[in-house]
Order: sequence, then C-alpha cells, then structure tokens
Amino acid sequence: MKTVDPTEHDHPIDVIVIGAGPAGSTTAALLAEKGRNVVVLEKEKFPRYHVGESMMPFCWYTLERLGLAEKMDEIGFQQKHSVQFVTTDGKISKPFYFFQHHDHPSSTTWQVERKVFDQMIADKARENGATILEERKVADVIRDDSGKVIGVNATGPDDREETYFAPVVVDATGRDALVASKSKWRTRDPKLNKISIWTYFEDAKRDPGLDAGATTVAYLPEKGWFWYIPMRDNRVSVGVVAERDYLYREGETRDPAEIVDREIQENKWLADHIAPGKQVGEYWVTGEYSYRSEFCADDGLILVGDAFAFLDPVFSSGVFLALKSGEMAADAIDEALSDGDFSAKAFEPFGKKLCNHIEHMRKIVYAFYDEDFSFGKLIKKNPDLRGRLTDLLIGNLDGVDFEELFAAIGEICNLPEELDYGFRAKSREPEPALA
Ligand SMILES: Cc1cc2nc3c(=O)[nH]c(=O)nc-3n(C[C@H](O)[C@H](O)[C@H](O)COP(=O)(O)OP(=O)(O)OC[C@H]3O[C@@H](n4cnc5c(N)ncnc54)[C@H](O)[C@@H]3O)c2cc1C
Repeated sequence: MKTVDPTEHDHPIDVIVIGAGPAGSTTAALLAEKGRNVVVLEKEKFPRYHVGESMMPFCWYTLERLGLAEKMDEIGFQQKHSVQFVTTDGKISKPFYFFQHHDHPSSTTWQVERKVFDQMIADKARENGATILEERKVADVIRDDSGKVIGVNATGPDDREETYFAPVVVDATGRDALVASKSKWRTRDPKLNKISIWTYFEDAKRDPGLDAGATTVAYLPEKGWFWYIPMRDNRVSVGVVAERDYLYREGETRDPAEIVDREIQENKWLADHIAPGKQVGEYWVTGEYSYRSEFCADDGLILVGDAFAFLDPVFSSGVFLALKSGEMAADAIDEALSDGDFSAKAFEPFGKKLCNHIEHMRKIVYAFYDEDFSFGKLIKKNPDLRGRLTDLLIGNLDGVDFEELFAAIGEICNLPEELDYGFRAKSREPEPALA
C-alpha cells in the first residue's frame, strides 16, 4: 500500500483524524466519500490486535452505509444470531434470537477478529481517498491563542517530528482518550467500576446450528460475569468482568491465569464448555473502564468512540457506538465544512444525540448489575415490553421511545440519574460581567 505524505498535497487537509479504530476510520471513510481531504494518523502498524469482538445487530446500518455489510460474510466472520444468559448453576435462558424481533439482514450480526475488522474499515477509508499514515503517534493537538484546535503534533517513523494543520481535528484515540485525558475532561462513571481479564481458547465446546456463534453471558456470584464469544477458526474469546475486590481477593492469587481458571469453575455451563479446550495466547487485563468526557467537542475539535466515552462491555455497545458516532461526526463535520463554521457550538447537536444513545445503554447496564434486577423478572411482569427491550439490546435507538421500558425497570431496581456532562461542547464565550 502506497502511503502519501499529506504535506505534499496540493490542496490543504480538511480533517485530521487521530486513530484508525472503527470510530476514526468510519469518520474518515464517510468524509473522504464526500470528497473531503482527510488524513488519519494511527500510532500502530496495522493489522494490530484489539479487544471488542462481538457486534450488536445495528452495526449493520453503518457497515451498509460504508458499503461493507456484504464484505463481512465474504471475509467469513462467525455469524451471531442471538445472545443467551446462563446462571451460575448452569441453567441457560432461551436464546434471544434477533430475527424474532426484527426480520431484517441486520439481525445476523458477527463475532470478529478486530485486527481484520479494523483493517477492513481502514482500507475502505483509503479506497474512498483518505490518507492513512500508520506509526504516527499524535502527542497533542495544537491550539491558537483563543484555544481553538488548529492541528496536531505527531511523531513519525525514526522519531521524526511532524505537524499537521486542518480546520477540524477528530479525536478517535480509543481508551487513550488523548484530548479528554490531557484536558482533564475524562470523568469516571460514579458507579460502574469493573475490571476485566480475558484470553482465548481453542477446541472449546460450541453449541450446534444457529447457536454456534451465540454470545453467552455466564453469571458469577456478586453480579460478575463471563463473556463466551465463539469466533471463526475454532477459537473462543473468554473474559471475566467483575468488581476488583471480587477478582483480587485478600490473600488469594493475583495471577490472571489462576483467577480466570478459578472463576470458570464458578459457572457449571462455562466449566463444561471450556473443559475440552486449550488456552492460547496471553491473558489481558484492563480496569477503570467506565468514563465519559466532560465535553464532546471544542472549537475545531470533535470526540468520537471510546475517545469520548466508554460504558461497559456487557451488551457489546462499544463498537456499535464507535461506528455510530463516527457516522454522526462525519455528517456534522461535512456540514461544518460546507458552512465554514467549526465552532464548538456547531458540534453540540452531535454530542446531545450521542449522549442520549449512551444514556439509554447506561440505564440497562446499571440494571444488569443490580442485585434486584433480572431480564426474566422484567419480562414476566411486563410481557408486552419484550420488543422494546430487544430494541435496546440490538441498538435500535434512533427515535424509539424507551420511557415505558425504563419506568418498568425502575419499579424493579434503581436507575441512574443521567450524567449532566458530555453533551455540551466546551464554551469559550466570555463569562458575564459581574454586576
Ligand atoms: C474488556 C473489554 C471488552 C470489550 N468487548 C466488546 C465487545 O465484545 N463488543 C463491543 O462492541 N465492544 C467491546 N468493547 C469495547 C470496544 O473495544 C471499543 O468500544 C471500541 O474498540 C472503540 O472503538 P474506537 O475506534 O473508539 O477505539 P479503538 O478501537 O481503541 O481505536 C483507537 C485507535 O487509536 C489509536 N491511537 C490511540 N492513541 C493514539 C495517538 N496518540 N496517536 C495516534 N493513534 C492513536 C490506537 O492505536 C487505535 O488503533 C470491549 C472493551 C473492553 C475494555
């Protein structure tokens, strides 16, 4: 693949995107498709490993807009038709088949190797005309005297210092959350505070037929849980999510492999499925993962995907929100470029809509971790709300009214107050003079 030095372009850069994950590459691909001159700076050399393999059905809509929905099956990613829940004593729920609710191509979704998936979207951005420069680590954004973002400083191969200028910069740096971290906008969720350890198994048990690619959420005591994500090539991604104090108990092992082995034995279904398997590769650990940036944008700057917020892996909303926010940001930036208005205010409708989506997911994540809540209890009490619940779990969030659903969940457990930050852009209006 030929890489082009954008500083040699004869027309200026319209948009700089930092990070070529799903959020950054989606933004870049859609803007390049509209004829905008986009440069993406990615610190890694692709393809690179990334966690986050299970898709939500409504990822399909962004993939379709990118012209990639068919490609997902051509590549041969494991198809996923359902999600199922398993209690600690091994009792399994009826699978939630997506097609039973929404008879549409989006109901067949996928379990993906992220290094292949992310490469696919980056390639699409290149095909549409974006320039993607790998092994370019952005150190910081550049601001003018008013605080407006006007470019970035990066370090390229051989430690070469590089500077790029454009009227709009997109922070798509994932959990590094470059701008939110440097500007101290990154704010932890008041309650969600889990950690996760994960690894991979080969030859572990698979359910037959349609259920072969199902995501299984297998419960542990104290509302911890395992994901069991069957992927292609006979590989399963297996990870535990729980409170730190539960996983790292006083006086017990701190070794990730031993913790995973110990916890697998806490769930009969899981122990049975993993028994014939062989663990492969590393054990990965991450913590402190629920946060949101105080601001969604600044003058000349917009935050997308995990660089803006991350909730929790439980309903696989991460990649969905990365794709969705990338799509929404591309539309907002295209309009800003047409209007010549790159002010923070111009990006506020983007932030409001995104926060609205995140708040819907956040409520169901809180309910999931509440001792008093279970899906069975909710649906038994409110059978007519099964469809609404499924809308939420598949990512059908645009224009759907969830008020009745949340009222019903609120009768079973406590739901969180909406966060009062994130939806605003950084205001640079002068403080009103004191009387
Ligand atoms: C334990 C765990 C399990 C998860 N499981 C799931 C799941 O099953 N399903 C799901 O949908 N989501 C899952 N997620 C979430 C998912 O991984 C993320 O939400 C998703 O990857 C976000 O995409 P993104 O494009 O915003 O960021 P990323 O995919 O992280 O991409 C960011 C890119 O920016 C680059 N970058 C970072 N800093 C710089 C810099 N300074 N300069 C240049 N480049 C930079 C990085 O190298 C990277 O390529 C999980 C997350 C965790 C923590």
